[in-house]
Formats: sequence, structure tokens, C-alpha cells
Amino acid sequence: MYQKSRAWIELNIENLKHNVEQFRGLLPRDCALMPAVKANAYGHGAVLISKALQEHGVQSFCVASVTEGIELRNAGIEGEILVLSYTHPSQFQDLIAYHLIQTVVDGKYAQELQKDGREFTVHIGIDTGMHRLGERWENIEEILKIFHYPNLKVTGIYSHLCVSDGMSQMERSYTIEQIHHFEYVIEELHRNGIDNFKCHLQGSYGILNYSELCFDYARVGIALYGILSGIEDQINATIDLKPVLSLKTRVESVRVLYRGESAGYGLTYSTRKNQKIGVLSIGYADGVPRNLSNCGYVLCNGKMAPIIGRICMDQMMVDFSGMEQVEAGDEVVLIGKSGKLEIRAEDMANWAGTITNEILSRMGGRLERVAV
Ligand SMILES: *Cc1c(COP(=O)(O)O)cnc(C)c1O
Repeated sequence: MYQKSRAWIELNIENLKHNVEQFRGLLPRDCALMPAVKANAYGHGAVLISKALQEHGVQSFCVASVTEGIELRNAGIEGEILVLSYTHPSQFQDLIAYHLIQTVVDGKYAQELQKDGREFTVHIGIDTGMHRLGERWENIEEILKIFHYPNLKVTGIYSHLCVSDGMSQMERSYTIEQIHHFEYVIEELHRNGIDNFKCHLQGSYGILNYSELCFDYARVGIALYGILSGIEDQINATIDLKPVLSLKTRVESVRVLYRGESAGYGLTYSTRKNQKIGVLSIGYADGVPRNLSNCGYVLCNGKMAPIIGRICMDQMMVDFSGMEQVEAGDEVVLIGKSGKLEIRAEDMANWAGTITNEILSRMGGRLERVAV
């Protein structure tokens, strides 16, 4: 049952569907969305998000691990599920049992899958310049060999862009080189009589900054949740994205501190006058970064309240001075809207010195997640 007890995430499914439509409008007609729902759908809740996407016609998903794939299958997700990273041979049986597509992370891994003796459906990762995963784009012979392994059913190839969010001349030309390398592999495969495979290259920024590209799938992640990675990021596309997630908690205690008193672990905050302090029932175990200590603010009853003292594991404190009507049980917004004010995930990430991808993917397991 939905309790909204101490801290929770609200998911705006209408905004998610709106974002899906925006991406469908931006991408070429033949390019399907293959949303990245790894890391519990960037903290949003993989099952809730994937089900909503499936209801809205999405038929392909990518995850980071077999375990994430199994969670989706058990929840009734039927389309293609691509595992983006390494699977240990001890979990090979689950690839088959749950109809998951495995990434070939390099040539050696392809050999290992072939040697196992069972048949696997795979997409071959191609390293076009990020140098993380994939067989190097120049090694056409090696890539052809993988296509010809009898136990591997290769249904796709893909690569990943590593500076598609950048607008500098250097970053743009590096990305264009990566695109050319990927296209070169596709052409070489065609030249060798191999035609029956899907291709995909773009994540969020690949779509937003290179939307003219036309591959079979686009692996949209962060932007599908309605936000960008960094507060200052510029994009080429004209698109209207709406945030899906709000993060909320409650006031658990309101107390007065006298002038000159200090609060919290390490006594890092001292009052300059008599101040009204609010204690909130959320902390770093829920995903509020500890380096928001004495940094940033929250919203309560349409007003801003600065964060004071160190963020604790299960609690944090804010300054409610000047707010008359605030009491235990009141809702507090850490990400989302309150009255006319809004805190975006980009703001929180900026205060914490990181990107929204990290903030959201680390949202804690004990937060309730509810569709509104
Ligand atoms: C996570 C991931 C994505 C999605 O990235 P976003 O930048 O969040 O859109 C796409 N492709 C791969 C290989 C990934 O690991």
C-alpha cells in the first residue's frame, strides 16, 4: 500500500509519455526508442517506468545487468531487453531463460559465449573511440568472425559516443569521427553480404545534438526522464522535455535554536540569531548527497528553506526562520515544485558538483515510488 510515510518519489507518467512523444517527433520515422532503464530506471523505479513505456508502445529496453533484465521480465515486460555490460558465465543460463540479448563486450568474450555450447542472441559492441567496451572498429575480420560463430545469433551492432554532449570544435569532430567509424563497420558488413542486423549509436546527447542520424534504435536515457545531465548543457535540438521525478519528504520536528548554538554532526552550522530549524526525514541513505551539507535549499509550502548542517544518514536539517506555519508532518520538496517555486534535478546536481545521472541513479531503495 502507498504510505507516503517518510520520504518518497512521485512519478509523473504523463510527463514521461510527453517526453516519449517528443523523442518520436525528433527522431527519423524508422528509428525506434530503446530506453535505458538501467540502475532502476535512473532511480525512478524500473518496473513502473518500463510498464508505462510498454503501455505507450515502447518495445525495446536496455539494462546494465542480467538481474535488471530478470526484474523486468518478472514484471511482464515483453519486448527486447539488451544487457549493456558483461555477464559472468555463471549467469549465462539466465540470458537464455529470460530471452535477454547480451552485448559482446570484445572479441574474447564472443569466443567465451561460443565455447559455452548454448545459443545466445547478441548485439556486438563496437569501439569507435570511447575505448570502454566493444571490438575495435578497425578489426573487421574479427567482427565478421563473430557473425559466423555458429552459437551466436547476432541481431545487432552498436557503439557509444563519449563526447556527444560537447559543443566545442574538438568534441564535435571527435563525435563525427566516431559516427564515421560506425558507418564504416556497417558498410564493410554489407560488402561481405551481411545485412540482417540492427544498428544503434545514440544515447540522449547523441539524439539531442545529432538528431539527423538515422539508425534502427536510439538508446535514450537521462533525457527521457525529462532532464539534462548538467545545468549548463546546451543542445542543438528543439525539444520540450518535462521532468518525471519529484523527490519529497516530511518535516519530522520543528525546533528553535538560540543565537550562537550549533547543529548537527561536527557542529558545522551556527545560528546568528534565534532560528526556527526543521528536521526532515530523509538523508544520504536515501540519495541526498552528503556534500549538500550547508549547501542548497528545499521547498516547503511554496517557500525556500536553506539546508543547514551536515546531511545525516536518515535526516537532514533546514532553516525555517521566517516561515510561520510549518509543523511536523508537512511535505517538503527536494526535487520538484512547491507553489510557484521549483527545484530541478539539475539544480541539486549542480550544488553537489555532479551530474543528474549520478544523483538520480543513487536514489535509495527505501524511498517509496508512486505514479501520480
Ligand atoms: C547508459 C547508456 C545509455 C543512455 O545514456 P544517456 O546519456 O543517459 O541517454 C546509452 N547507451 C549506453 C551504452 C549506456 O551505457
